Formats: sequence, structure tokens, C-alpha cells
Amino acid sequence: MSDNGYVSVRGVSSRGVGRAVGNGAKEGGVGVFDRMIESGHEQVIFCHDRVTGMKAIIAVHDTALGPARGGTRYKAYASEEEALVDALRLARGMTYKFAFTDMPRGGGKAVILKEDGGADKHLLLRVFGRFVQLLAGRFGTGPDLGTSAADMAEIARETDYVWAIDERFGGTGASTPLTARGVLVGIGAALNEVEGTPDLSGRRVAVQGLGGVGGELARLLAAAGAKVVGADLDPARAKDVAGELGIDLSEPDALYDADCDVFSPNAVGGVLNGHTIPRLRCRIVAGGANAQLATPQDGRRLMEHGILYAPDYVINSAAPYAVIGAGELGYSSERLDAAVEGVAAALELIFRRARAEGRPTAEVADRIAEERIAAAAQLRALAPGTGAAPRAHQP
Ligand code: NAD
Repeated sequence: MSDNGYVSVRGVSSRGVGRAVGNGAKEGGVGVFDRMIESGHEQVIFCHDRVTGMKAIIAVHDTALGPARGGTRYKAYASEEEALVDALRLARGMTYKFAFTDMPRGGGKAVILKEDGGADKHLLLRVFGRFVQLLAGRFGTGPDLGTSAADMAEIARETDYVWAIDERFGGTGASTPLTARGVLVGIGAALNEVEGTPDLSGRRVAVQGLGGVGGELARLLAAAGAKVVGADLDPARAKDVAGELGIDLSEPDALYDADCDVFSPNAVGGVLNGHTIPRLRCRIVAGGANAQLATPQDGRRLMEHGILYAPDYVINSAAPYAVIGAGELGYSSERLDAAVEGVAAALELIFRRARAEGRPTAEVADRIAEERIAAAAQLRALAPGTGAAPRAHQP
């Protein structure tokens, strides 16, 4: 699932998170509460299983829009701090992403710490699932980096709050196809803003990453008549996709210099930065990767280079529909189609406001999300909790 939002890592201690908590974090670095306050998190749950040694962190960012949903990442982290920062940053990004959907869900994320010599992954996933179940729906999850739809089936043996489960186990499967369709629609909306038409035929699109999302996007672009040049760090994968679709290939680093209409990041985060942005020879950046901007300032940098940026968590916002919409909320395929088309409407709103205010699109997207979250929080404050009367007044 998502990666937006920035949680700064000032004075991070190389010691464990637990120690930072014990110290009130004044000595060894930034404490957990400092971080939560800085980025507005409601709750962080540290999970440890004595038998398997499973360690996980579940971050609940904001439930004003609804109970928290976000993927579970399985990754080897250099430190517990790094794992915590990742969970907090990703959970916050999910809140912003849900603010651009009509699903009543808030932002959360979980990370399971991958350790050398640790217990079998299947076991860790099941134990993790038990912790998820204890939260009784306040947090629910799906796949992310290092976890698959098959892994979700493992978690589902222990909890009702997991989706995007492998189709062989009765789930809705991967979110990749719907995500790629949303990105395609988003590229059209960006072209419409810059060129006055969403027509893709003859447009040159540089696709960075030819994996699940990028490979599918390249297929859709080629079918729409675009001229695609692709790149992937994995040469075998690049060759396979190029062979199948008949697209051109570039060396991964050289793709930043490609003369194109659209540069489309679909690989990893942080690819838009002070080194790469001046190299871009495009008028639009629009792709499905999460956390594309290395820093918030890079959104402004793109604008100053005359490049229209389609904010990542908006253009890839069809993804949570595939997981939560189809999986948890039981949306029909018509409703999922509407979500894909909705990507264009969301981007048009951002582009219009960015143009009117002369501000970077990334900033405008964050502002719109924050306005929606604040409005939902206000509504919730007006009708708090269950509204149950105090016991003394009940017959
Ligand atoms: P994936 O692992 O299937 O594909 C990523 C590909 O990028 C791999 O083939 C990898 O070799 C390649 N790659 C990595 N670094 C590269 C580089 N510097 N240059 C060129 N290629 C590089 O992952 P995915 O599921 O396609 O996800 C891609 C991005 O989209 C991620 O940022 C992910 O968070 C985001 N995303 C995915 C989904 C989804 O439904 N899968 C939904 C929303 C967002």
C-alpha cells in the first residue's frame, strides 16, 4: 500500500526504540511520543511473541475518516528506529491516500522485522495475525513490500482483518492491475492539463520499473498507442517485458535523460530529487510508485523546472480500492471502474487549484487531504463514540 508523508529522523539513536522510550528520549535521540506528536499519530503498538521471537510495529495514524487500514511490510531494518520511522511514515501516507477515496477508512501500516536466523516466515505471519485480531478491526491489513497475496492467506488464518488474499484462497488477489489502470487514467489527466488532450497515441512515455505496476502500465500504454521506453534494474525482467510488448529499453540511470512527454516512476521511492529533477526532459511526471519525492521541497523543484507532477498517492489511489474496496467493502466491478475514472477527477481538482494558487501540486494535494481529514474529525467530535448515556441515568 502507500508511502506518502515525511517523518524526520533528527538525532536518531542507534539504540533500540525501547531504550529511547525509557529515557524519555532526551538523552539518546527522538522518542516515540515525540515522533507521534510530530506527525499526528494516534497509536503505535509494539508486538513481541515470546515463543517465535516475532517483532512487529503497528502504526495507527488517524482514524477520523475511519478505522486504520494499510499494508504489512516484512523487511530487515538496520535498527528498530528505522522500522518505527518506516511504519509511522507509511501509516501517515495511508491517511492521505484514503482522503482521496470515498472509502471510510483511515491510515495505518505494519512492519514485521525480518531478522537473521528468525523463525519461519509462515509462523511469524500467523503470530502477527493474532495481534491484528486483538485490535478488533481498528487496524486491518494487506500486502506490501516483502509480503504477497499468498502471505495474506497465512495471516487470514488468525484474523478477520486482512484482505487482498490470494485468489486460490477465495480472496480478491493482487491490486496491481487496478493500480496500473488508475495510473493510465492519471497520465491522461496530466496530458489534458498540459497539452489540452488526454490522447496517448504517439506520446512518449518513459516507464521506470517494469514490475507488477510498471509492466502492466507499459502494456496499457502500448495498447493506447503510446511510444514506451522502459527500464528495470533487473535486466531479465526488462528483456521479458520488452520482448512481449515490443517497447524500447533504456539503461536504468539513462532513463532520467530520456526525451519524453511523461516520466513515469513505478519502481522505488525517492527518485525525484535534486540530482534527478534537473536531468528530466519531460513536461509531466506521473507514475504509480509510492513516495516519489525525496523531500517535500522536490515538489516545488519540479514546478520550477516547468514539470507538472501528479502526486503519487493520488494517481495510485485505485490500489486501496482493489484491497479494501473489493476485499473488505465488497464493491462491485462497476464501483471499482468508477474509482479508476475518479483518479482523473481528483487530479483535475489538484491541477486547477495549483494553477489558481501558483503552488506545487504536491502541496495542494496535502492541503486538500488535510482539509478533508479535519472536516471528518470535526464531524466525529460532534457525535462522539457510541453516545451511550452514563449508567446512573439508565433504568
Ligand atoms: P515490483 O517489485 O513488482 O516492481 C518494481 C520493479 O522496479 C522491479 O522489477 C525492480 O527491479 C524495478 N526497479 C527497482 N529499482 C529500479 C530503478 N532504480 N530503476 C528501474 N527499475 C527499478 O513492485 P510493484 O508492485 O510494481 O510496485 C512498484 C511501485 O508501485 C512501488 O513503489 C509500490 O509501493 C507502488 N505501488 C504498488 C501498488 C501495487 O498494487 N502493487 C499499489 C500502489 C503503489
